[in-house]
Amino acid sequence: MENMKDIPELFGSMVFNDETMRLRLPKDIYRVLKKTMREGTHLELDVANAVANDMKNWAVEKGATHFSHWFQPMTGITAEKHDSFISPVGDGKVIMEFSGKELVRGEPDASSFPSGGLRATFEARGYTVWDITSYAFIKNGTLCIPTAFCSYSGEALDKKTPLLRSMDAIDKQSRRILKLFGNTSVRRVLPTVGPEQEYFLVDKDMYLKRPDLAFTGRTLFGARPPKGQEMDDHYFRTLTPRVSAFMKELDEELWKLGVLAKTKHNEAAPAQHELAPIYTTANIATDHNQLTMELMKSVAYKHGLVCLLHEKPFAGVNGSGKHNNWSLASDTGVNLLEPGETPHENAQFLLFLVAVIKAVDDYQDLLRASVASAGNDHRLGANEAPPAIISMFLGNELTGMLEAIESGSVYRNKKKYQMEIGVTALPHFPMDATDRNRTSPFAFTGNKFEFRMPGSSLSVAGPNIVLNTAVAEVLSQFADSLEGVKDFNAALGAIIKTTYGNHKRIIFNGNNYSADWVKEASRRGLSNLKTTMDTLGAFICEKSVTMFAAHRVFSKAELQSRYEILTESYCKTLGIEALTMIDITKGEIIPACIDYQNELALLLERKKNCGGYDTSLESFLLGQIAGLSTKLFENLKTLENAAMEAKNEQKTDAQAALFGSKVLASMSELRLTADELESLVAKKYWPLPSYADLLYSVI
Ligand code: ADP
Ligand code: MG
Repeated sequence: MENMKDIPELFGSMVFNDETMRLRLPKDIYRVLKKTMREGTHLELDVANAVANDMKNWAVEKGATHFSHWFQPMTGITAEKHDSFISPVGDGKVIMEFSGKELVRGEPDASSFPSGGLRATFEARGYTVWDITSYAFIKNGTLCIPTAFCSYSGEALDKKTPLLRSMDAIDKQSRRILKLFGNTSVRRVLPTVGPEQEYFLVDKDMYLKRPDLAFTGRTLFGARPPKGQEMDDHYFRTLTPRVSAFMKELDEELWKLGVLAKTKHNEAAPAQHELAPIYTTANIATDHNQLTMELMKSVAYKHGLVCLLHEKPFAGVNGSGKHNNWSLASDTGVNLLEPGETPHENAQFLLFLVAVIKAVDDYQDLLRASVASAGNDHRLGANEAPPAIISMFLGNELTGMLEAIESGSVYRNKKKYQMEIGVTALPHFPMDATDRNRTSPFAFTGNKFEFRMPGSSLSVAGPNIVLNTAVAEVLSQFADSLEGVKDFNAALGAIIKTTYGNHKRIIFNGNNYSADWVKEASRRGLSNLKTTMDTLGAFICEKSVTMFAAHRVFSKAELQSRYEILTESYCKTLGIEALTMIDITKGEIIPACIDYQNELALLLERKKNCGGYDTSLESFLLGQIAGLSTKLFENLKTLENAAMEAKNEQKTDAQAALFGSKVLASMSELRLTADELESLVAKKYWPLPSYADLLYSVI
């Protein structure tokens, strides 16, 4: 783009957004549509027809030829099926048509999407329904309609449906609370989300020589390079021309789609980068994050790069996360997690704050489960990533204040301070940069929480569904006990005090990366669920089933199906990793070791034949490589057996347990041997680009 003044014009140019609707739709249609959006009611067919027609005309003007319902099945990525607008009118001619029915509802054959047993193949039809709160957009010449995806009997088969349900739940419960504070003008409370996205960029040619990256997204082999991230010289470093060109194009493509791409910089590990958008509502943020990941991949490819979104593409260097910044906003523009100015606002803030504290403590296992994946298992607890223990950071000021409230004592900062709920205001407590704990998995950062556990490839729908519903649950408990009380301030004070007292074990302001914290957390009775299979049970336990059912977010059957899909996906991921490792070992590493041994042996023999030469180097190397190669062969057999045993196990839970124990352990063993061989075998024989090649080649 030549002229930077064009950005406001470029922004959202491929989105059928509010402004476009206002300009293009007949006034009465626009009004009805807005009302439907606000109230989440049903869209009448005549309105849908009018909207569809204008939407199609707009899309065709922009060069679109097709439309697609764009949805988010349980695969973790998005799905689309393109239909052209053409409709025959006789004489071999066509016109471009798009009906309200086509806009609002689609019926894709759903049999190839994971359903976790919710839908038998003989009733394979699913249907997609327009999520009217997320705008349609044009991508690659196709008008994409963001949709929810359900089975014919209405069960959620995707990530959007439960997210929207959870948004309704937290809206309803938040407004009950706001009403108690006399606020009846708020018509909608929305969770807001800003997901910071980390990723790696590697050179395409290098990538193509790494089948492990291609098949599994992470390196299954690779000796540590002489230089990793120990110099701390990549974070915020000047962007190289190639990376800079990539980021520029990515920004522009995202802006066209209305994605609020804001911040970009180099991250801590070599070849690692980050993009952060400006926050928006949870469902739009989720849609936009999916688009961001998709565009990161396609734009990188155009630049001769490959974008890696795996949580841990390289052992020994930082993994990639997706910090989920989360807060609650009213449609009147108030951030409910922002301390206010008046005693009244502060009391309300404190109530929402302790609701989040209780929700995170009560549902820590579920929150941990919401970020579980085979990939994230490698990241959590390693190199600058939060451990698998959920805790919250509030900062010393806020913690001090809550402590004082709990003990009924005077809070001492610069001046002594006695807080009476609903009567006195909180002392001003700015959250400055020094009062930020980067090691905390769930940190309060002044007016929002930053959940740092999600891995980089995860859809943010999952953690936000859990957060929204858990907080809605606690708010409903609060509302139940506060509605109708005589002395509101006293009851409020009591709730804040007891809730904090009962749940403060979840608050930890220290260093989450330290070994001491692991011990301390265990003393406090906090969970430390290290691997995916330790966590997934949290989805189907009685407590979760009851909570999700109470707020109509998931039925028991839907939870069970998600449990099964996640377990299966865990098994499949590890199955593919094991097979890839076996293939590379047999097809590339063993032959390379043989070739190099052959060269050494030949030289050894020639030297011996000539007589008088020192052969200590060749003998030593040959001995080492021969020994390690034999060990590698043993490791290979062990892995093959373990993988076979796991594959043959019929029960999914038992299969997952085998993958998580035996298979993973055999893979680690094999890798150790292979990495040692890499450091001995001549580079020209080693078939895989090294870590140094991958991490330092994009300049
Ligand atoms: P950092 O955490 O890196 O210091 P910021 O705190 O400024 O950076 O913002 C990080 C992310 O948090 C951004 O995506 C931003 O839009 C998002 N964010 C800021 N305020 C809110 C909010 N009220 N709700 C949700 N996300 C928010
Ligand atoms: Mg941040």
